[in-house]
Amino acid sequence: MSLNTTKKTPHRIGFVSLGCPKATVDSEHILTQLRAEGYEISPSYDGADLVVVNTCGFIDAAVEESLDAIGEALDENGKVIVTGCLGAKGDIVKQAHPNVLAVTGPHATDEVMRAIHEQLPAEHDPFLDLVPPQGIRLTPRHYAYLKISEGCNHHCTFCIIPDLRGKLVSRPVNDVLLEAERLAASGVKELLVVSQDTSAYGIDVKYKTEFYNGTPVKTRMTELCEALSQFGIWVRLHYVYPYPHVNEIIPLMAEGKILPYLDIPFQHASPKILKAMKRPASTENTMQRIKQWREICPDITIRSTFIAGFPGETEEDFQQLLDFLDEAQLDRVGCFAYSDVDGAKANELEGAVAEEVKQERVARFMEKQAGISAQKLKQNIGKTRDVIIDAIDTTENMIIARTSSDAPDIDGLVYIEMSDSHNCQVGDITQVTITATDEYDMWARFTRQ
Ligand code: SF4
Repeated sequence: MSLNTTKKTPHRIGFVSLGCPKATVDSEHILTQLRAEGYEISPSYDGADLVVVNTCGFIDAAVEESLDAIGEALDENGKVIVTGCLGAKGDIVKQAHPNVLAVTGPHATDEVMRAIHEQLPAEHDPFLDLVPPQGIRLTPRHYAYLKISEGCNHHCTFCIIPDLRGKLVSRPVNDVLLEAERLAASGVKELLVVSQDTSAYGIDVKYKTEFYNGTPVKTRMTELCEALSQFGIWVRLHYVYPYPHVNEIIPLMAEGKILPYLDIPFQHASPKILKAMKRPASTENTMQRIKQWREICPDITIRSTFIAGFPGETEEDFQQLLDFLDEAQLDRVGCFAYSDVDGAKANELEGAVAEEVKQERVARFMEKQAGISAQKLKQNIGKTRDVIIDAIDTTENMIIARTSSDAPDIDGLVYIEMSDSHNCQVGDITQVTITATDEYDMWARFTRQ
């Protein structure tokens, strides 16, 4: 008997990943599956046998960017499979680009793999097709997104995510913890917990109890946070809605089990607008809650996003929002001008706000918040903070880092001048003394130890 040792050249797949962290996680799942099945990933269009484009379809600008990316992949390569949120929006992709090979919605690894198999059947070689246990990730080695659920049960009138991604489906908590364990073992120092609605985790499975390493754990946000704290790495929560049980996780932040950071999209402060938006937990007394959280955990960083110029927003409503900013003194804030999203209920509401008024309100909002943020950051001068090193720029002699108050990509940075006495690596967590600040970023030197 003779063994045929001739290895065929594996098929090569190009990959373009657009959109939010949830889409990034979808891309990582597809890439992991591709490598598991023996496909190679091509860094260029011309080296690829076909290209997968993972799209975003949330706002018009994202639709435009996704359609452009598909067009570019078709021009450069010719064989393109489209997945992601834009794929779930009817015929938009096929109308703009009739030559794409297949179109799927988001969170559709199996469908994408089926489409790839049809074009390029896998050539599996169990000796050579290795996937690292933590899967393939698109983020730097030292942090990773951990997606705990898919979809959403709410009906915010400006949002079409429930149509695109369906109702809430929570991942079993033991699966989430196993993934976190693998990520921590692979050198990840910071987990960014993401979903559409993190505080709703487990509602769909009635907070089912699963077993992780023989220990019972409920599929529920508090229990998940408690369990994630055992890995001894930073755990940061995103997309938390102000349900009453959010109060349970604040003590975990105060005890240092998870980062004292709450990304909680309030969207507005006028009860009338919140009602028109159909926001979850819109009747909660937000100011009161923020005060309580700060009493329990004085170091908490509260990040939020807002929409200015929602249909029906009067100058009085907007002023209410500015007054809220003054009173709430939030730490990190983003603001977007409302824009119609194809298929969203808010498009039918009366009282559309003129584009120039929207832009003017966003500018006023950001100016107010810049003042608040500058004041808050200034209070750090002279203080020692833990930072995680994101990058080392040897040409500028500068180290770029973040404090626990700053999430990657959306919040501020800490710039540290390189010093010979401190050898650090990307992903290290170290102490610095803050020396200067502006509206959003800080400057620091290493704290002598
Ligand atoms: S909570 Fe509202 S904004 Fe968030 S995904 Fe669900 S419907 Fe969209």
